Order: sequence, then C-alpha cells, then structure tokens
Amino acid sequence: MFVVLMGPPGAGKGTQAEKLCKEFGLIHVATGDIFRNAVKEGTEMGKKAKAYMDKGELVPDEIVLGIVKERLSKADCANGVVLDGFPRTIQQAEALDQVLEDLKMKINMVIILDINEDEVIDRLTGRRVCSNCGATYHIKYNPPKVRNICDYCSGELQQRSDDTIETVKDRIKIYNNLIPPLIDYYEQKGLFQKANGSNLIDCVFAEIDSFLQKKVYIE
Ligand code: ADP
Ligand code: ADP
Ligand code: ZN
Repeated sequence: MFVVLMGPPGAGKGTQAEKLCKEFGLIHVATGDIFRNAVKEGTEMGKKAKAYMDKGELVPDEIVLGIVKERLSKADCANGVVLDGFPRTIQQAEALDQVLEDLKMKINMVIILDINEDEVIDRLTGRRVCSNCGATYHIKYNPPKVRNICDYCSGELQQRSDDTIETVKDRIKIYNNLIPPLIDYYEQKGLFQKANGSNLIDCVFAEIDSFLQKKVYIE
C-alpha cells in the first residue's frame, strides 16, 4: 500500500503516519525528517537545506527530488509507504509519478488532513520532538508521561527551530498557495480523500483507517 498524506504544517501528518506504519507495517518517508537528519549529521545536503528550512521556504527540487528517489528505491519501501511532506508542488507530483513508474509502484490513496489556520498555529507552537528518536508530542494535546522526556527512549524533547510564529505563518501561506492545483491533480486521478484533521488523534486515525479499509475491500 502506498499512501500520501497531505495537509498544512501541523495538520498531524507525522502523527498519523506513525500510527499507519504501526497498523499496516508501512515505512514512513517524510522529506522534512530526512532534511532534519541531514542537518543533524552536518552533511552538505543538510547545510544547503537548512538555509531554506530556517526561513520556512521550500527546499529546491534539485535537492528534494534526488532524496525522494533514493529513499523510495530502498528495498524496505517495497512493503508499502506512507509519504509525508511530499509532494508539495505539481512538479514534485509529476516527478513522483515518474519515480513510481520506474519502481513499478503506484499510489493507492492521497489523504489530506483538513484543518483551519488557528488550530494549526496552536499545534505547531506547542509541538515538541524527541531529540533522540524523533517522536512527536504536544504540550497540551499529546504530552509525554514525564515533562520534556520522551516516553519511548527517555530522550530530551525540543522545539523545532522552524516552529516559531513568524516562520509558521510563512509556511502556511506557501502551503495555501500551492495546495489547490495539487488537490485537482489527485482528484482527477480518483485518488483524493479528505479527512477531518481537527478531530482527536484517534478519531482522525479511525477516519483514515475507514478510507483504507474500503479501498482494500474494493480492490
Ligand atoms: P511540517 O511537518 O511542519 O509540514 P516538514 O517537516 O514537512 O514540515 O518540512 C519542514 C521543512 O522542510 C519545510 O519547511 C521545507 O523547508 C522542507 N521540506 C520538506 N519537504 C519538502 C518538499 N517536499 N519540498 C521542499 N521542501 C521541503
Ligand atoms: P505535521 O507532520 O502535519 O506537521 P504533526 O504530526 O507533527 O503535524 O503534529 C503537529 C502537532 O500537533 C504535534 O505537536 C502533535 O502532537 C499535535 N497533534 C497531531 N495531531 C493532533 C490532533 N488530532 N489533535 C491535537 N493535536 C494533534
Ligand atoms: Zn525518543
């Protein structure tokens, strides 16, 4: 199964992707996570990407497309993928189709997490991420058992450097400009589904799960 999760920054893509991976044994491929790991490791690609990420701008396609192709070509992806944070533009969507054709894979469903701007700002400013394993928390909506400590690995929780109110607003603006043609693109292919991203984490998951169960049943 190959699922694409879309939605504004903070919609819950990473949170739902992790749940989907546990439930269906899929691999979570998140372009943002790949970039953040590259920044942490201090690679050349990481250095280039960081300049854009800090400003809340999109990393150029000449960097993004290569890393997506490389990651999807790895053997583990044959078991199925949840793609999170990619594609963000029509050019990226077309490039993805080409990569998947070469790999003899295809998208089963594109799910957008629909949510309004105020909620997204609240979620992003309260987001905390484990500095060790990358698990995501929220200070109000999904707090760790012990303050600032990861439930899974006892790592320290940190705020993402791009989750500041100014950068968040820029990221939302970019998203709003780019999303309408992408929705059309996948609607025309009959792949598009909209889930209510404002619900509680488990309710959002139940809705996504119901879409996928129906799809599996039909195919
Ligand atoms: P969020 O989870 O808040 O939506 P991401 O973790 O997906 O954010 O992305 C963080 C940053 O990484 C983006 O602001 C952008 O700079 C870069 N990035 C991630 N995915 C892409 C992409 N598909 N194209 C260009 N830049 C990207
Ligand atoms: P994205 O990957 O789309 O940027 P995340 O999954 O990182 O979004 O979620 C953003 C923040 O909102 C995190 O702090 C997360 O714990 C929290 N969150 C995710 N889903 C929900 C939800 N349904 N209700 C409340 N908070 C949520
Ligand atoms: Zn952790």
